[in-house]
Amino acid sequence: MIEKIRFSTDKKYELINITEQAQKIASKIDSGAIVLFAPHATGSIVICEDEPGLKQDVIDFVKNLFERKGYSHDKIDDNAHAHLISSFIGCGKTIPIENGRLTLGTWQSIFFLESDGPRERAVYATIISS
Ligand code: ZN
Repeated sequence: MIEKIRFSTDKKYELINITEQAQKIASKIDSGAIVLFAPHATGSIVICEDEPGLKQDVIDFVKNLFERKGYSHDKIDDNAHAHLISSFIGCGKTIPIENGRLTLGTWQSIFFLESDGPRERAVYATIISS
């Protein structure tokens, strides 16, 4: 079964917490896994603590690491940094489900990392029962 978690982003860089929506989908099975996949070439999925300072640190880190002048792709649409962030961080995560709950640690939340917003986005959620 595949469901879509839909949302829009407001900024060029943004972390959108999708944990609650993923948990709602995960609760449909007792045991297994949820596969989250963002069908976007300029977005990523990350797991980290939902703390404002850390979220800013994540955004600052990817900006510092990936934003620079001279990328070949920027001659086309000026977003090579976002494609590289998505390529290297990745656009999917798999999380085990136990007793209908995501097995996230206390300080783990699931985020879509926007790096070329604002845009309309979706994350595909597939649950696999075991
Ligand atoms: Zn592009």
